[in-house]
Amino acid sequence: MGGARVRLAFDFVDFSSICSNCSNNCCRRFYAVLLPEEEGEFSESSFEIPTPLGCVRAIGSRDGKPCPYLDEAGRCGIYRNRPLDCRLWPVMLYYDFKTGERVVYLDLDCPAASEGRIPRELIDTIVGELKKLVIDEDWLKRYTLAPWPNNLAELCRLRP
Ligand code: SF4
Repeated sequence: MGGARVRLAFDFVDFSSICSNCSNNCCRRFYAVLLPEEEGEFSESSFEIPTPLGCVRAIGSRDGKPCPYLDEAGRCGIYRNRPLDCRLWPVMLYYDFKTGERVVYLDLDCPAASEGRIPRELIDTIVGELKKLVIDEDWLKRYTLAPWPNNLAELCRLRP
């Protein structure tokens, strides 16, 4: 499945009203890891993130600078075409190295997540789509190991 088709499956995810006026803009603080099928599309703006199992590629904040796609008003200039990681966060899918399960988390570094302002129905719909997502397991392991604050609350487990 190409990057555009993966993103299309998650086109319903729109956090713009939840994110508006956020003073803690994630796009100024964090990077977003690209799916293997998204790497070609963002080759000019992406950079490598090393992990113990090899590199992943990412866009977003780097060296204290905001994501180059962020405009002065704090909005994403490619919102309709933003990568899946940008689209889903603060929902995250990680690999559990102990059990081999895929685990869905809510990242409490997002103020809306920590304050309970993300509708449960939206999270449940995202989880439903994540269950159907075909994703490269080696990439998911590297993604899981990419350095991250890991202020995570477990939502559910997707059993293989
Ligand atoms: S691509 Fe858009 S959503 Fe993703 S980090 Fe950059 S500005 Fe934020």
